[in-house]
Amino acid sequence: MSSRDRHGHRSRSYIAYGDAMSPRAMRRRPPRLKPLCHRPVTGKMATEVLDVTENSYDVVIVGAGIVGLATALMLTKRCPSCRLAVLEKERSVGRHQTGHNSGVIHAGLYYKPGSLKAKMCVEGGRRLIDFCDAHDIRYERCGKVVVATDESELAGLEELHGRGTANGVPGLRCITSGDLRDIEPHASGIAALYSPSTGIVDYGRVAEAMANDLRGRGVDLLTGHRVLAVRENDRGLMVRTEPAVLHTSYLINCGGLYSDVLARQMGVNSDVCIVPFRGEYYFLRPERQGLVRGLIYPVPDPDLPFLGVHFTRSIHGRVEAGPNAVLALAREGYTRSSLDAGELFQTLAYRGFWRLSRRYWRTGLDEFKRSCSKEIFAASLRRLVPEVQASDLMPGGAGVRAQAIDSTGKLLDDFVIAESSRAIHVLNAPSPGATASLAIGDHIAEIAAERFGLA
Ligand SMILES: Cc1cc2nc3c(=O)[nH]c(=O)nc-3n(C[C@H](O)[C@H](O)[C@H](O)COP(=O)(O)OP(=O)(O)OC[C@H]3O[C@@H](n4cnc5c(N)ncnc54)[C@H](O)[C@@H]3O)c2cc1C
Repeated sequence: MSSRDRHGHRSRSYIAYGDAMSPRAMRRRPPRLKPLCHRPVTGKMATEVLDVTENSYDVVIVGAGIVGLATALMLTKRCPSCRLAVLEKERSVGRHQTGHNSGVIHAGLYYKPGSLKAKMCVEGGRRLIDFCDAHDIRYERCGKVVVATDESELAGLEELHGRGTANGVPGLRCITSGDLRDIEPHASGIAALYSPSTGIVDYGRVAEAMANDLRGRGVDLLTGHRVLAVRENDRGLMVRTEPAVLHTSYLINCGGLYSDVLARQMGVNSDVCIVPFRGEYYFLRPERQGLVRGLIYPVPDPDLPFLGVHFTRSIHGRVEAGPNAVLALAREGYTRSSLDAGELFQTLAYRGFWRLSRRYWRTGLDEFKRSCSKEIFAASLRRLVPEVQASDLMPGGAGVRAQAIDSTGKLLDDFVIAESSRAIHVLNAPSPGATASLAIGDHIAEIAAERFGLA
């Protein structure tokens, strides 16, 4: 699949790491997607940045979520003379997945040994802790238990123990129900896995610190710049955003929920489509927060990339319960009533979605019921902590996962990074993407330095 483009750059039309695309899959027609932009940017920021219209860069990164910011940071370290801009459509950084997640620093026990997730979660977690120490960002290694509530879950627990051990998760051990009571006095189960190194942090705060670092290193962090179109010309790429036109030699697409749209616009022949799954949270009422000390998780369904509703103590002291996983009717649809007809149509028009639905309709229905009923949500939580009642739950926030699926309806489990002429695309970076962000960023920076010949 390797060829040279007209500038002499080696280009591979599609390279997927982890879940490799078969040549047959690459030939399948992708769904038709609408243009990148549909909401105007108005106000101060849009006019303030007009003076950069003529600027040109070596590399432009699209998306100032934690993956885009970490990639920029790693690129400045590998290629200090590289002229770099990060374009973000929102007014500030980390407004989507990065600012709407569980805040867990995953230790790496879920992921298949040898996968990108396994390697990058463990390595990224180490780098994240170093970053937090260097920037005075509060985090806590509060520890986590994964609880088997009946015999049928013991094999799954054993599998996680094996994976975690192979991945080098420190201190991981199987514990009895008695040990579980010592660690989490209100949790109930027949056995559990204890990961003392799992931690919590505020990823929004981490993203802000990365953004400050980047500004200090002379990177142009241009918020209020929604990328509308990217065209290749003799000099490189012309990137049209709402307030400006920028020129760049190369681009890195870290567009999260819109990364597939951007990739396709740039000619990536991929059958991967992002399906948005909303995850809704409740908070435990302050007087009931004593029911949870750290993090209490169920044994996950091995067929799904979601971890099941769980309890998370946040770094700000609240206890969150959730998230579930329901189809969002808009890519940035944070409430049940958020609907973007065009985006929903794209999802429904994608045959991979129907294949996914046929396979998981029962799970989807259960998730929908749990989303509509606090009582059913509480019943799921009671499997882990029997004392929890629906009346203990207060409405919390929600996040939307950018989960990639392929045209066979498979939920892509591993991180997926693709290359096209003059660009690198992060097509799947769901959880533990925040934990792994600095490792993902370094990996992309390495590819970029080599492929683009940056110094
Ligand atoms: C409910 C939930 C819980 C999670 N829990 C955890 C957890 O506990 N631990 C963990 O490690 N991970 C967790 N994750 C995953 C983690 O949040 C993501 O892996 C990570 O935030 C992905 O970062 P990102 O930069 O790729 O995406 P995002 O944070 O979504 O950033 C993408 C950015 O691109 C911008 N953008 C998109 N299109 C354009 C455009 N056309 N022009 C300009 N900008 C554009 C967006 O505005 C956005 O800011 C969770 C995710 C969710 C949703």
